[in-house]
Amino acid sequence: MRLSVDPERCYGSGDCAYRVPSVFTVVDGYGAVIPGREDGGGDPRVREAVEGCPSRAITLAEAPGTPAG
Ligand code: SF4
Repeated sequence: MRLSVDPERCYGSGDCAYRVPSVFTVVDGYGAVIPGREDGGGDPRVREAVEGCPSRAITLAEAPGTPAG
């Protein structure tokens, strides 16, 4: 998977960083994926963070050919 945050949609609620602090952070008031953690780090809470983002700013793209997990 490949995660990204759309800064045009994010309003900096911080929910993502609260849910999965090993993957998301808040930079300059906006949610961001920690560099090197774009694959989600295998953390199942990542999907909750994607679905729980109040502004639907987080995109999770499945990378074809990448082993699950
Ligand atoms: S949960 Fe969504 S709106 Fe909140 S900081 Fe993260 S990306 Fe931004």
